[in-house]
Amino acid sequence: MVRLMASKVRLYVDQPLGEGQTVPLAKEQAHYLFGVMRLQTGAVISLFNGRDGEWDGEVIEAGKRGGVLACREQSRPLQMPPDLWLLFAPIKKARTDFIVEKAAEMGAARIVPVLTDFTNSERVRVDRLQAHAIEAAEQCGGTYVPEVGEPVKLERLLADWPEDRQMMFCDEALVGAGEVLRGAMAGKWAILIGPEGGFSEAERARLGKLPFAHAVSLGPRILRADTAAVAAMTVWQQVLGDW
Ligand code: SAM
Repeated sequence: MVRLMASKVRLYVDQPLGEGQTVPLAKEQAHYLFGVMRLQTGAVISLFNGRDGEWDGEVIEAGKRGGVLACREQSRPLQMPPDLWLLFAPIKKARTDFIVEKAAEMGAARIVPVLTDFTNSERVRVDRLQAHAIEAAEQCGGTYVPEVGEPVKLERLLADWPEDRQMMFCDEALVGAGEVLRGAMAGKWAILIGPEGGFSEAERARLGKLPFAHAVSLGPRILRADTAAVAAMTVWQQVLGDW
């Protein structure tokens, strides 16, 4: 079999991918591939759906309003990230988008907006955030797309907390993140980042009593929430993740 040359274009699709599978394109996808990227019948792109790895997909029909791709062969298997959740209090729109994009690039398995006492931006469009996570995966070569969960109140999140998951709770604590993580076991973890106003005293007290919540410092300077999310994921990935 002639090995198809993989093009640089990567496309996320919803449909199953596999030997002999055809993938019908939506209007926007056809516009992108044939209008913007100027691909024609016979071109090969990389397809992924977050479940079946990455596949070479050949354009077999190209039109203005649609088209069809055919799966040819798998170019990469599915690569799951570590089981790390990023829990963050939503902030301004562009900065929230940034957090989701960076979390997907850096290898979060799940991203959940959390409503805390001082969260002042409660309107979160999960569909928009999910689209950002997909775009980030397309761009960074990921074969997995983290799910963006519905916003949840911190109280509810803690009440339903799975007992086998540890939490790195980012706050002005005395103990540095690296120090806490170096003595910890890899496995199921979550990172919790507060809003612009930080956590309330009641939340700190509640979190302080939970055996799975480890308060960690990200250094002596107060970071913006979006910087803190990237910094916390970096430290976690370096010590317990897949870097
Ligand atoms: N005025 C708030 C305060 O003093 O808590 C600042 C909150 S900060 C802008 C937003 C979030 O980023 C915090 O709730 C925390 O989760 C995280 N963060 C920022 N700097 C941090 C640091 N040096 N150590 C640990 N977490 C930090």
